[in-house]
Amino acid sequence: MKIHEYRAKDLFRREGIPVPDGVIARTPDEAKQRAIELGGRVVIKAQVLAGGRGKAGGVKLAKNPDEARELADKILGMKIKGMTVVRVLVDKAVDIESEFYLGIVQDRTQQCSTLMVSAAGGMDIEQVAAETPEKIIKLPINPETGLRPFEAREAAFRICGGKTALRIADVMVKLWRAYAKADSTLAEINPLIVTPNQEVWAVDGKMNLDDNALYRQSEIAFWRDHLGEVPEEYEARVAGLSYVKLEGNVGCVVNGAGLAMATMDLVKYHGGEPANFLDIGGSSNPDKVVKALEIISRDQNVKAILFNIFGGITRCDDVARGIIKAKEKADIKLPVIVRLIGTNEDAARELLAETDLESAATMDEAVQKAIDLAKGATS
Ligand code: GDP
Ligand code: MN
Repeated sequence: MKIHEYRAKDLFRREGIPVPDGVIARTPDEAKQRAIELGGRVVIKAQVLAGGRGKAGGVKLAKNPDEARELADKILGMKIKGMTVVRVLVDKAVDIESEFYLGIVQDRTQQCSTLMVSAAGGMDIEQVAAETPEKIIKLPINPETGLRPFEAREAAFRICGGKTALRIADVMVKLWRAYAKADSTLAEINPLIVTPNQEVWAVDGKMNLDDNALYRQSEIAFWRDHLGEVPEEYEARVAGLSYVKLEGNVGCVVNGAGLAMATMDLVKYHGGEPANFLDIGGSSNPDKVVKALEIISRDQNVKAILFNIFGGITRCDDVARGIIKAKEKADIKLPVIVRLIGTNEDAARELLAETDLESAATMDEAVQKAIDLAKGATS
């Protein structure tokens, strides 16, 4: 789960990281009022769950409250990466001498959390990583000890010197605490800035949290912003489905995450492109299947829908009934291919034989048919 910059900054403040004073505004007048309270010179920042807001025109410096009003008026309502800006953060402006990058991420190859530090902060860190990886210092963090102050100092002295390095090292340790406490997968300050009189400030903040740990992060879990999610993914989650939208044209409805992955692999193997990952879970509840069909068929790219169901405790005939009911209810015009195997598969096949649903005996056959039908529909 992603959280907004202003929320991430609140978590940073709790650990004692220096973050400029700032407040949220929802209207231009409110932004002006907040700017007056913050002393006039402020930065107006779009709060959307996407990076690169600066480049998209969503971060602007205002020299006085009237300008803050004007800029907020421009930024509110703006669309950044498909998301409409409904809130801006009004932050007290600071003078920048240099910009650093600090981040902690869950590094799957290293199998631990990793501190990343760079003097090439402010800009696109992905670009720095791709073009000049030597500019990013990486340090694995031992989960038992956490990031230790001497490790942080060592890393900091590789990007700058003196008191500034010590201040940055202090921020690193505090960033680790914020990251660990929130069960994060990412905590990032880009840029961490140094002012002309050598103060250090986190002017941006980003945190992603581990969805599997949200059950014990009740305060943060409540911060979820549905507007920042793909609407279909939100709808699916509420319906108890796990759905991830992709770019292909073969819609997939599968029970079980492993089977869903295997199905997507096979679609790719046979030269097709899956339109989604979708796990309807262990139940054969027709309502869930209806929801799944609705969500998938709303995607204009989808040209055929493939059901791949393994009946264990879930009985195939139940699922077949669910699919038949769901197809009628959701009024699907797209071709649907069904492959059911496992408990009561014969009964399921009999049920399907009376419908216009295509069925297939093996996974390869089902996938191949789905790809062909999707191609046929496009050409
Ligand atoms: P992002 O583009 O979404 O990462 O948004 P950031 O919060 O990182 O802002 C983009 C850029 O705006 C930063 O790299 C800074 O150069 C600049 N910026 C942000 N806050 C301030 C500030 O308080 N003062 C000044 N002068 N510039 C700022
Ligand atoms: Mn940034």
